[in-house]
Amino acid sequence: MPLKIVYDRTGCIGAGTCEALDPEDFELVEDGLADLKEGEESGNGTWEKEIPEERKEEALDAAKSCPVNVIKVIDTESGEQLYP
Ligand code: SF4
Repeated sequence: MPLKIVYDRTGCIGAGTCEALDPEDFELVEDGLADLKEGEESGNGTWEKEIPEERKEEALDAAKSCPVNVIKVIDTESGEQLYP
């Protein structure tokens, strides 16, 4: 089942746990905030990226670790929001 990460960069406080737990998807950059690697901007400072099922656990770990809950993980087939 394909998944999607939806990341609201405007709420990021640069805590960095997303990068530590899921370095394939998140990277802290010069402004001290995280970028969603190879993500596409979807408006209002939000970024999205499709990921394969095999990468689900890392993405969920990153989302759950974020102290300000700005990372969502969505099942794109059912539309179900897996986190938060
Ligand atoms: S864990 Fe959340 S607040 Fe911290 S860098 Fe990642 S997105 Fe930003």
